Amino acid sequence: MRSLILSFAAVFAQTASAQAPVFDVHVHLREGETSLRAYEADVASAKLELAGVGAMWFGGPHQARQGDTATIRVGNDGVIALAAKHAKVLPIATVHPYDGQAALDELTRVAAKGVKVVKLHAHTQGFDASDARVLATVKHAGTLGMVVLMDNANILPGDSERLFNLAVQAPKTRFVFAHIGGLNFRFWNILALARTAEAFFADNIHFDISATVLLAADSPLEAEFVWTLRNVGIDRVLLGSDYPQITLGRTVDAFERLDLTSEEKAKIRSENAARLFGLPMAASRRN
Ligand SMILES: [Zn+2]
Repeated sequence: MRSLILSFAAVFAQTASAQAPVFDVHVHLREGETSLRAYEADVASAKLELAGVGAMWFGGPHQARQGDTATIRVGNDGVIALAAKHAKVLPIATVHPYDGQAALDELTRVAAKGVKVVKLHAHTQGFDASDARVLATVKHAGTLGMVVLMDNANILPGDSERLFNLAVQAPKTRFVFAHIGGLNFRFWNILALARTAEAFFADNIHFDISATVLLAADSPLEAEFVWTLRNVGIDRVLLGSDYPQITLGRTVDAFERLDLTSEEKAKIRSENAARLFGLPMAASRRN
């Protein structure tokens, strides 16, 4: 009987968690408004309530390459305009670090228009994350109060190591590393120890678990993945889909199968994102 009550409680907690709104921090809207409508329809078909969506204009056929400063500006303005019309859209801009001063100027320009997040992707944009221009870019973003979202799928060797070093060198910048290192997620358990080193690590790293969560759920690695999320800090973990490559429905389905508590799931579903990005829902949710 006791176990029946416990399992009923577990099912209830799961249901409550499954109905909580989701903030999807990692969405590529290739065709602006049209893509947003398709994305929202897809989310609705999965019976999910959207708390917000971190939207990027680049990815897939659109890439922000070195020297394409005019294209980058038009793209950034496009997603800013989309966010102005849709309250749930958190605009994510980009620059190319090798554009030097032009990249820094573009960050200043979009920050003045309210952009809080910039995404950089070493593999698709073609830069080395250990280059001094990347450090200058992320430090400037930090002084503007922007969060830097960077790809961390471990496509390139040394990906996680370089990103860790970058975050250590830019302690005043807050980072989100997308995909939490792919199947090299084990690397990031080092953060539990980095916190114990005096005046070394500013605890400025967050993660989105997009894509990787699909492989981890119900896998032989699931217990280790959950252990990793707790070591990096449940408060530092965000949910993302990487739409259109992966839908939010598939992502949440995998996420809900992880052996996390309902409190932990609520934080990851939307509370951490609201706090990190300073969204109004953070305040209202606490009351
Ligand atoms: Zn992506």
